[in-house]
Amino acid sequence: MPHPQSGAPPGSQPARPVTEAIRHGRIPLRVHPGWARAFPWVVQGTTVRTGGDGDFGLFTAAAAGAVMKRWESLATDTGCGSMVHARQVHGCSVTLHEATPPGLLLAPPCDGHATRRAGTLLAVSVADCVPVFVVAPRARAVMLLHAGWRGVAGGILEAGLAMLKRDFGTHAREAHMHMGPAICGRCYEVGREVHEALGLPRPASPGEPVDLRRLLVDRARAAGADPAHLTTSTFCTRCADAPFFSHRGGDAGRQIAVLGIAPDDSGSPGGEWLDDHRRERH
Ligand SMILES: [Zn+2]
Repeated sequence: MPHPQSGAPPGSQPARPVTEAIRHGRIPLRVHPGWARAFPWVVQGTTVRTGGDGDFGLFTAAAAGAVMKRWESLATDTGCGSMVHARQVHGCSVTLHEATPPGLLLAPPCDGHATRRAGTLLAVSVADCVPVFVVAPRARAVMLLHAGWRGVAGGILEAGLAMLKRDFGTHAREAHMHMGPAICGRCYEVGREVHEALGLPRPASPGEPVDLRRLLVDRARAAGADPAHLTTSTFCTRCADAPFFSHRGGDAGRQIAVLGIAPDDSGSPGGEWLDDHRRERH
């Protein structure tokens, strides 16, 4: 049984823990090592805080010039000619991107993105909330969600899985899902109303923590996901010395989680941004 302070609901089973490895570049990324081997056609990872730097927030008070430079460097590193991001509203809407312009596209506000298009990099910003990475190998499709407690409670994961079925013909059991760096089940202390919104038993005392990643794993299983395809990052953004921004920890900065299909379909970084865009495949 879970430890009472773990933030996990009774009867819940953890997913396999994974520690993201560093991929060096102009913008260092923490990448899922198992996925890097299994899905070399996928570009994936989470940016890191480097000293007091590394902020990718486009909707914060960060200096726009420095932030945009980082986005451009990431495009160069990954060879992705298009990047997609949106202001996040803790909702449950997921946007399907079939055609994307070169450069950075700010889509209408939403908390999830999906694509089958090679060379389009999906991005969500996080700093304690959970980036949910989803790969559908048979359909060669990817989806990336931003899940805070409101999104989890509202069903963003279920909405995303419904989209996978509808638009890519992929059932949840075929999908591979990774719950990325986020606040852990010991650090995320929340009020009783959050427990209630998440469908959890009313806690004896206020301020008991919840484990959002564990809840997402439970929900993925309930939707039919194969437990062997589910993993959770060992990183907590809040505790210890994790190389990530934490909103609860007082950081104003945001890292981004990114997911896409490599422009050359091999997972290796490409050359110049525009060149890669010209030779992208479908
Ligand atoms: Zn923690």
